[in-house]
Amino acid sequence: MSTASPTSTHEAKHKCGVFGIWGSTRSAWDCYTALYAQQHRGQESAGIAVSDGNGLHAHVGMGLVREVFSERLLDQLEGHAAIGHNRYSTTGSSLTNNAQPILREYIGGQVAVGHNGNLINADVLRHEYEKRGQIFTTSCDTEVIIHLLAAHHLSYSDPLVESLQHLQGAYSIVFLFNDRIEAVRDPWGWRPLCLGITEEGNHCVASETVALDAIGARFLREVEPGEIVTLNNRGVSSRRFADAQQPAHCIFEHVYFANPSSRLFGDTAQIVREQMGERLADEAPVEADCVIPMPDSGRSAALGYARRSGIPFREGIVPNRYVGRTFIQPTQSERDAAVQLKLNPVAEVIKDNRIIVVEDSIVRGTTTLSKMNHLRRAGASEIHLRISCPPIRHPCFFGIDFQDPQQLIAAGRSVKEIESYLGVDTLHYLSLEGMLNCVSNPAEHYCTACFSGQYRLNIDQPVTKLGLERHQLRMFG
Ligand code: SF4
Repeated sequence: MSTASPTSTHEAKHKCGVFGIWGSTRSAWDCYTALYAQQHRGQESAGIAVSDGNGLHAHVGMGLVREVFSERLLDQLEGHAAIGHNRYSTTGSSLTNNAQPILREYIGGQVAVGHNGNLINADVLRHEYEKRGQIFTTSCDTEVIIHLLAAHHLSYSDPLVESLQHLQGAYSIVFLFNDRIEAVRDPWGWRPLCLGITEEGNHCVASETVALDAIGARFLREVEPGEIVTLNNRGVSSRRFADAQQPAHCIFEHVYFANPSSRLFGDTAQIVREQMGERLADEAPVEADCVIPMPDSGRSAALGYARRSGIPFREGIVPNRYVGRTFIQPTQSERDAAVQLKLNPVAEVIKDNRIIVVEDSIVRGTTTLSKMNHLRRAGASEIHLRISCPPIRHPCFFGIDFQDPQQLIAAGRSVKEIESYLGVDTLHYLSLEGMLNCVSNPAEHYCTACFSGQYRLNIDQPVTKLGLERHQLRMFG
């Protein structure tokens, strides 16, 4: 079953989004607005936890932010501090008990945790605790962090710093305690996390700057890799828990995931995507009548392609914004029908024209095939497909849901073979070098593993999406 956003026909599923704010009299409402702005990062579940100084309270539920929260619920979540989470499951099923923030009581008091990323050693850590008799109630990797906190509480002056030493992989995490919020970013900086301040002087943290914009907050800076930023009644303070490693910022955030208006890893996603389109026009020119974006994810790159090539930019495919969120599509013909429902071609733009279609990426290829079938039926005389990133040939273990290489169309296939499968006249992908030329940090500061196969960390025992569930079944089944 597709669980994409209301009009999404994209095959890559988002990870998660986190947010936290301290000192606001409407902290739950601020959280709600920020989660709404970050809805693109996860549509399966949403949750908010608040602190009123005496205790923590949380509400989580399945669905979009607007489906999970009502005005009455938000008014009930009273508190001067809050954290929130949008979830797309990259570890553990899409179930209510895997929704975040996870709220627990342990020897140190209460804590709520929201996590974006994937821990590659969660299985090993969890097994260690299970052997000692600890019980887990979720099948997501985040829960192990709370066990680490509890285990280190009495023995260390800074249990959080000690706990974080044990984590391997990608994590941008917000912790809510009764007296503070702690925002943490892994030493490689895989996922974005930024710090802002509202007009009232309340500090906040968010996965993306688009969330700060939504609540009228000003961007202050990114949380550094290996840094813990604390928000409390005294303002903001910072400490390190690890030396920063050579950064491994996820380049796919710029290709597709982040909101185009968001600034992350020092660049604004929209500008990067337009440059990717320009570069693609240089690398793969072709004579055609118009450049058409694949809505909505190909739009920024298509603008760049059209600008550089001088070929007119036309909106040739209009998304139907009212198609429901889920659409069961197990077969190719049903996928074709779903695409037909969600994407409406403009006949005058497509019929008898040579079109360049710009899309940000191809994951499994089945949805792209439906889109190309759809354009062919609409009468395009030639279809030239341009992809603004290189072929995705390798799995991601750092928070994106393409963990199985067998599901990747480009794994083990040449571009010519994919071109023939999709039935297009020509197919070209942006080169790895071309993609990395569009961002401002040095190339070695980005993770490109899904394109290049070069992983920054050794992946000995990768945690698959449902890996911790099988583990749980072994223990209790
Ligand atoms: S493997 Fe790809 S999607 Fe995963 S973190 Fe690296 S660049 Fe991002």
